[in-house]
Amino acid sequence: MFDASPELQMILSTIRAFVEEEIVPLERPFLDQNFAELWPQLAEKRAKAKSLGLWLPQIPMEYGGMGLSLVEHGYVSEILGRTPLGHYVFNCQAPDAGNMEILIEHGTPAQKERFLEPLLAGEIRSCFSMTEPEHPGSNPTWMSTTAVHDHNDYIINGHKWFTTGGDGAAFAIVMAVTDPQAAKHKRASQIIVPTDTPGFRLVRNTSVMGERGQGWASHAEIMYDDVRVPQSNLLGAEGAGFAIAQERLGPGRIHHCMRWIGICERSFDLMCSYANLREVAPGRPLADQQTIQNWVAESRAEINAARLMTLDAAHKIDREGSYAARDEISIIKFYVAGVLQRVLDRAIQTHGAMGMTDELPLAYWFRHERAARIYDGADEVHKRSVSRRILQRYG
Ligand SMILES: Cc1cc2nc3c(=O)[nH]c(=O)nc-3n(C[C@H](O)[C@H](O)[C@H](O)COP(=O)(O)OP(=O)(O)OC[C@H]3O[C@@H](n4cnc5c(N)ncnc54)[C@H](O)[C@@H]3O)c2cc1C
Repeated sequence: MFDASPELQMILSTIRAFVEEEIVPLERPFLDQNFAELWPQLAEKRAKAKSLGLWLPQIPMEYGGMGLSLVEHGYVSEILGRTPLGHYVFNCQAPDAGNMEILIEHGTPAQKERFLEPLLAGEIRSCFSMTEPEHPGSNPTWMSTTAVHDHNDYIINGHKWFTTGGDGAAFAIVMAVTDPQAAKHKRASQIIVPTDTPGFRLVRNTSVMGERGQGWASHAEIMYDDVRVPQSNLLGAEGAGFAIAQERLGPGRIHHCMRWIGICERSFDLMCSYANLREVAPGRPLADQQTIQNWVAESRAEINAARLMTLDAAHKIDREGSYAARDEISIIKFYVAGVLQRVLDRAIQTHGAMGMTDELPLAYWFRHERAARIYDGADEVHKRSVSRRILQRYG
């Protein structure tokens, strides 16, 4: 049912080889050093991916991408997810990927020329600035950041955090209230703010599980103090901020889920290899222990289920659009995030102390992907909305 076409199979095997041979060797320096030190090597790998035509898999061909459908990109995302740097090297990393998609859909010709083109070329990075420390991100219709008209400009004031990749980004897409009197889903707009605009202040990269991170691999707290940008920087219609954010999230959740499945597959490979290798006594590998065998069987079943559910949701989006697939999208968002957490935990446990080190990417993922159950809609929010719709059908 979900077989990739022979043509796609060829692309996937090229990408798999590229990931194993070119990107996995950069993992250790990535885990040991900071992102900036690794930049020259990453730039080289990005140029190589581009020259092989493996650039921007999810972007239409007329914009220089590979033009893959959501399902096809899902397969790619799964392979790229096997290493923390995979998506970055192919220029399909969050949040830039989502920003590219909304700029393609809603950007004016001038916005596309100034912001989208260099983003697609990999010359700049961007960020998406919606969540505020003072308000629940789970209710994005309630926020304090405002954008007020002043002649032909907007004056933006607000406080954001968890703006991923804000450090070093060339521009932010900022969610701000433009009409506080409007219906709650029509109050906010998305506005492009170049980060060198006076009043844009990166306060700090927020420490996450002991790491502040750097560059793309970080989450910024940002103050917007009387930031003045032309009204031509409005993305889409005024008041459409919430609708555009929703649009961004449907396909984005498929990208995340397939990336998490890639993490699960790599963790599973590491767990199984180590279980065969590590002996608890001479001639008695860990793999002989029934607990480990249970973890292997349970993990395999859960990953298979997660993968089929995600591909099913992606097919439905490709066929009928995100709105029709909203139940499937919510279900995979919390289900796959849970599988990810359990599989990673078992893989770490199997490795003992080695699992806690940064010799392998397991601990990095465990630190950073705990957030999978929170960002793009916390588990509880997705469970609530899907179960409400299901129960209504029984009412
Ligand atoms: C690693 C990471 C990266 C992120 N990147 C970005 C980014 O690039 N840009 C951006 O704007 N934001 C980003 N975010 C923020 C993210 O979108 C929010 O954290 C998320 O929307 C949840 O909002 P909150 O943290 O304010 O939690 P709250 O909304 O305050 O919720 C707290 C908890 O309450 C529970 N809860 C909330 N609502 C309900 C409900 N209706 N029913 C039951 N329980 C509920 C949930 O368990 C939730 O975890 C990122 C977050 C993380 C962790």
